[in-house]
Amino acid sequence: MSTQAVEKISLAQEAWEKRPLIISGPCSAETEEQVIETAQRLAKTGKVNAIRAGIWKPRTRPGSFEGVGTKGLPWMQQARKITGLPVAVEVATGKQVEDALHFDVDILWIGARTTVNPFSVQEIADALKGVKVPVLIKNPINPDLELWIGAAERVAKAGIDQIGLIHRGFSNYGNTEFRNAPMWHLAIEMKRRNPGMMMINDPSHICGRRDILQDVAQKAIDLDFDGLIVETHIDPDNAWSDAKQQITPEAFGEMLSQIVWRKEDIDSADFHSHLEKMRQQINHLDDELMTLLGQRMKIADKIGQYKKDNAVTILQTTRWNEILERAYQKGDPLGLSKEFITRYMDAVHMESINRQNKIMNS
Ligand code: PEP
Ligand code: MN
Repeated sequence: MSTQAVEKISLAQEAWEKRPLIISGPCSAETEEQVIETAQRLAKTGKVNAIRAGIWKPRTRPGSFEGVGTKGLPWMQQARKITGLPVAVEVATGKQVEDALHFDVDILWIGARTTVNPFSVQEIADALKGVKVPVLIKNPINPDLELWIGAAERVAKAGIDQIGLIHRGFSNYGNTEFRNAPMWHLAIEMKRRNPGMMMINDPSHICGRRDILQDVAQKAIDLDFDGLIVETHIDPDNAWSDAKQQITPEAFGEMLSQIVWRKEDIDSADFHSHLEKMRQQINHLDDELMTLLGQRMKIADKIGQYKKDNAVTILQTTRWNEILERAYQKGDPLGLSKEFITRYMDAVHMESINRQNKIMNS
């Protein structure tokens, strides 16, 4: 291996081991000056471990700026040379992998619109065979963990041993406060199913706006994510893509300094014994909840039998509305959110219906 190749691996390696791992840079590389200035100002914060930029942009609609293409790669090479920081770009085809590697890109990432497509992921994986480069995989745009896991498996099978995950939220129908719903429980489940695999959070694509970036980043850190990838631009309002969610490198530096960094664990016996006590309380309450749920289902079974004997339908909409309304009224003063109560009652109610259905048809 050439000295240059060895240096390149160590630069990426060094960043890869940083916790938290902080990646930042523009949504898209637009001009050489913009890439270089962003990188320099990010490096100046002293808080960033790698520079990102989109070279090929997978836009939802044609006619939007689709990236500068290969001519942007030497700009990244230059940014890397000037700052000494590794650079990361998105790849969506085998050819893009080859081009990126040809221009010494240190870290590759697979975008959300690519993770959904096993053909594309396989093509990327094939181009990665025999190469040593870290690869980050964004969650697919739809909330499907299997696709995300499948993408990681394809890349792993190609022999890549540095694989990380990026949680960037999931498409949702209609307007919500987020551009892409975080659905934190899916990221948590993905972490549970891939222990040891790095997962960083992308507040920019979750929020789609600047004012809530800090909150989402803090939440990710509180959930023990390994780092952040955040879009920054020297002139955010005039960015050629994703203008609303980008912030200046300095604003990002400030955002990072305001984050409260918590540890997953500390080495204190007092802390552990106190935590253990509170966990015991939780376990105890969970046991009680299980017992109560079991009792509730037994009564639902009885109702099912009774409805069957009297030839009445399982679902009576007015009753379901009444149950929900009661739950909201009880839950509100207890500090339980309407969203949680809806999800919880829905799960309980579905289980009741399934059991009653079995009874009806037995
Ligand atoms: C990006 O990181 O600029 C991007 C296109 O993100 P995503 O794949 O998450 O939409
Ligand atoms: Mn973007």
